Amino acid sequence: MEVDPVSGQWSVDGLPMILVPRHLITNNLHAVEERIGYDASTTLFRAPGYHSAQQWCAHQAARHGLKGAAVVRHYLEHMSRRGWGRFTIEELDLDRGRARVRLDDSALAARAVGPQRSACYMFAGWLEGAVDHVRPRDATGVRSREIRCRAAGAEHCLFTVDET
Ligand SMILES: [Zn+2]
Repeated sequence: MEVDPVSGQWSVDGLPMILVPRHLITNNLHAVEERIGYDASTTLFRAPGYHSAQQWCAHQAARHGLKGAAVVRHYLEHMSRRGWGRFTIEELDLDRGRARVRLDDSALAARAVGPQRSACYMFAGWLEGAVDHVRPRDATGVRSREIRCRAAGAEHCLFTVDET
């Protein structure tokens, strides 16, 4: 982590960063869900999450000379080190556009979203962006879903990625 002595801006590995308390993120999510509804909120955060993951992967792949599955692994390792939760890849098949990612201790699952609901839907767009980033340009798009969530009583959260 570097702090520019003049501007005070933070960066990690060449990317500008902002350190915020976790409650800022969860309070923002609650505010959006209250205003536009849970379902609309899951849709709203998908595209920016997708684009942000793609930006991150492009930057890091170029900086570290990574390709293919190594980019996705690198991405999830870093997100795991930054307090979002511990991501573990259980399956990753880029040719078929499939993945299964376990998430323990999700930073978003501590909040209440109601029974049978995914609290960590924000990560679905991230996973789609990361997997899509290393798929061939003409490949079918992928869709990620959180199929089990700690907030809904599961032992850990679980995401799948499949071709659309
Ligand atoms: Zn979850």
